[in-house]
Order: sequence, then C-alpha cells, then structure tokens
Amino acid sequence: MDERLARLRAFGFVTYEQYLRSEIWLARRSRALQVSGWVCFCCEDTDQLDVHHITYQRLCQERPEDLVVLCRYCHRAAHRLPGDPATAHLRLRDRMRGAQDHQPPRQTTL
Ligand SMILES: [Zn+2]
Ligand SMILES: [Zn+2]
Repeated sequence: MDERLARLRAFGFVTYEQYLRSEIWLARRSRALQVSGWVCFCCEDTDQLDVHHITYQRLCQERPEDLVVLCRYCHRAAHRLPGDPATAHLRLRDRMRGAQDHQPPRQTTL
C-alpha cells in the first residue's frame, strides 16, 4: 500500500476522492483559496481553481505550506512535469514567467 493510502486509512478514509469530499478538506481548501487571493500561483488566472498538494507527507493534516492554488490548466501541467513533484509548481511558475518575458516577434515593415 502506498504512503498516501496508508495515511488516508489511518484517518478513516477509504479513497483519496472520499477525503476530497470531507469537511476537513473542504475547510482547508477554502482557506488556501482565500490566502491565495483566488488566483493561480503560476499564471494568476482566476478561473477553475484547484488546491494542489505540494506534498502528501501530511495528508489529512496538511499545513498551509503543503498546499498551493493552481488553475485547472496549471494543475494538470504541474502533475505532468517530470522531476520532483514537490517543486513542480515552482518550476512551472518560472516557466510561465519566462514565457511572458519574451515578446512576440515584432513585425518588420519594409
Ligand atoms: Zn494557472
Ligand atoms: Zn495536484
């Protein structure tokens, strides 16, 4: 059994989905959204926000720093990013910021 599931079982949940519907999680989730100011950590979008686990180490007893608000797009991208999942949101944000620094190629008129 993986560590995440073992923690869920210890807190009386059978599945992760069940935990995501629990009062504890919904309260923690809404606090994280409030703290974020309702914007995605990576792209600052305000639509379709999810609360992402930076680490599952304290699953069911998450600290505020274990969670980060991401829009659905960035959330998916963060999970797909190879490498350490604990820094995926940071690397994704850097990537987004970097992309915004590059201006689209200017049209040259002759
Ligand atoms: Zn985003
Ligand atoms: Zn996530």
